[in-house]
Amino acid sequence: MNTYQISKKFQTREDCINYLEKLRWGKKPICTYCGSNNTVSIESENRHKCYNCGTTFSVLIGTIFEASKLELPKFFMLISMMLSAKGGISASQLARDLGITLKSTWFCTMKVRCAMIETITDLHSVVEADESYLGGKPRKKSNYNLATLSASKMQTNRPQRGRGTDKVKVAGMIERD
Ligand SMILES: [Zn+2]
Repeated sequence: MNTYQISKKFQTREDCINYLEKLRWGKKPICTYCGSNNTVSIESENRHKCYNCGTTFSVLIGTIFEASKLELPKFFMLISMMLSAKGGISASQLARDLGITLKSTWFCTMKVRCAMIETITDLHSVVEADESYLGGKPRKKSNYNLATLSASKMQTNRPQRGRGTDKVKVAGMIERD
């Protein structure tokens, strides 16, 4: 889904919650506290009651959306914009585009990043990892004049590869099987 489709699909808090419920539980809500599926929905509040332990819960409990002051549709948009911006997106840009404060943008983007780290590192058996640097071949500097440079100077001025560059670093990990 692109950002436009996200904005169309998730216009209200209910749209977001329904989607999260489907994603997390499928058809039958499972109690966040005791794991029982002996539950009943309290429709008007997007909450569910557990007959086993007697508590009420919502799908947001234990997620980055729990107790968030940012409205869910805007939170969804924020995630979409963070993921679709190839070179990354600044917090001030997000704050302007979503009409929210810089402070809540920082807070929410940090939550999203932490959640992604948790997902990535939830690997157990044999893990393969690799890293790369995005942005094509290293470019020569604009004032790089081959004719006037001595061999030793060329060496020091040579565009750097790998860890010496300021390119975007990307790491990937995969669990075998
Ligand atoms: Zn329960």
